[in-house]
Amino acid sequence: MLPAPAQWNSGRYDHLLTLVRSHAARYLEGLAWAEATPRYDEEALRTAFDSPFPEHSCAPEDVVEELVAAVTPALVNSAGPHYFGFVVGGALPVTVAAEWLTTAWDQCSALYALSPAAAVVEDACAAWLVDLFGLPPRTTTGFTSGCQSANLSGLAAARYRQFARFGWNVNDRGLVGAPEPLVLMSSNCHATVRRALRWLGLGGQVVEIECNDQGVMDLEAFRRALPDSDTPLIVCVQAGATDTGAVDPVGTVVDLTHQRGGWVHVDGAFGLWALASERYGALLRGVERADSLATDGHKWLNVPYDCGMVFCADEEAHLAGSELHEAHYLMPDRHERRDSSDWSPELSKRARSFVVWAALRHLGRRGLAELVERCCDLARHARDRLGAHEGVLVLNDVLLNQVLVRFQNNLDDEAHTELVISTLQRTGPGWASGTTWRGQRALRLSVSNWATRQSHVDVCVDLLLKAHHDLRAAALVPHPASPVELLVQATPAPTAGTDPAELVQAEVIQRSA
Ligand SMILES: *Cc1c(COP(=O)(O)O)cnc(C)c1O
Repeated sequence: MLPAPAQWNSGRYDHLLTLVRSHAARYLEGLAWAEATPRYDEEALRTAFDSPFPEHSCAPEDVVEELVAAVTPALVNSAGPHYFGFVVGGALPVTVAAEWLTTAWDQCSALYALSPAAAVVEDACAAWLVDLFGLPPRTTTGFTSGCQSANLSGLAAARYRQFARFGWNVNDRGLVGAPEPLVLMSSNCHATVRRALRWLGLGGQVVEIECNDQGVMDLEAFRRALPDSDTPLIVCVQAGATDTGAVDPVGTVVDLTHQRGGWVHVDGAFGLWALASERYGALLRGVERADSLATDGHKWLNVPYDCGMVFCADEEAHLAGSELHEAHYLMPDRHERRDSSDWSPELSKRARSFVVWAALRHLGRRGLAELVERCCDLARHARDRLGAHEGVLVLNDVLLNQVLVRFQNNLDDEAHTELVISTLQRTGPGWASGTTWRGQRALRLSVSNWATRQSHVDVCVDLLLKAHHDLRAAALVPHPASPVELLVQATPAPTAGTDPAELVQAEVIQRSA
């Protein structure tokens, strides 16, 4: 047996992890009632880290205490049940536990040889997910850092296959001199799809297909954009668009594209999980026939950051698009065992499969369906309550978990909406983000957290309605400068529970000054 190195002290792990455990548990248990976003002091945060690189070492316990003390006041409680911003999930308790173990085990899941455990669990998760989403049994799966990387891997497969159809091996020959490709993309496609296409050298070939006022790709416009002659053809669609939750008519798009030998890639970052529910999954009918699909684990599945998956119906193209070429020295027994790295853009990576497995094992089919349905039902609840008020316009049909809202005061709806959003964001306890939808500001509520219940939604809706009515009553006069800028300049960072009426007053004072 090797002598234990001086620094290797198992008692130290126990002590250190016990220390961290108490900090983490206090934080997580506080999430249920914590404000979604902190009123942190940026100056204090920066000052805490504004020191030259230290000359001497510092005990691990002291490092932990210093880190906790400095950052805790500034943490965004986005994992909590009041947080409706962007599209952000929380982390199921079992996944936090599995994530801790994953870190302790520190497996590199790149290759089977580096972690047979991670590889076998990844295979198991892949089989469960393919079954859950109703994909063909031969579908291949890659585990990624998120939907961005999943989009990249799916589209790399698309690029390989579409050029190979014309006898052009893009891996060997690159893009110079290749047959001219065409990329048709729903204008509502996520920015990460565009970025993946740029990385693949296809950014210049993108033709956007217009969407209707719900953000659904227009089928007639799509038909018109289809090429007359045979050409490498990649079509990108959304299953769950970020603002409206819209799902493109994937089944028809697949039929029309496959008639021309083309490839359909689906971005289903959060939307794909609706397939777990019979009620909401029907919206996505046809996605199971797409050629590649990308999704996230860290949104609706509620595992910690970061985690995503790509699925592909074409094994050879998936492998050709993502495998680690030339590095055969790394993989002496490849083709006998599946190396995770061959199916995603990264080589070294954490063993995300342990956490995904823990979430799926914990929830089961029923639990996952309930999670999805609860979020969608709560989104409808928010829609019903908000939409019942004069001057509150719910802009989308709320088919999934996203609610898009515009607030009107009939003088300057744009400024009024912005003020309602900023009032919510500055007064809490809930938080939601603003967006620009078809050229107009809107508030977006995304219900994606496993712990969110009606009371959390109600607190947020109450605050929005109060802000809306108070600000309307104050009858804001349109002003040449942005009212929000004035408001932000005029008011110090408010303390908890600041009344929207006070914000209005500050605004009025500023204007009359
Ligand atoms: C979040 C999101 C992405 C990007 O996913 P990451 O996990 O952030 O890489 C892509 N598409 C949609 C629809 C999203 O909501």
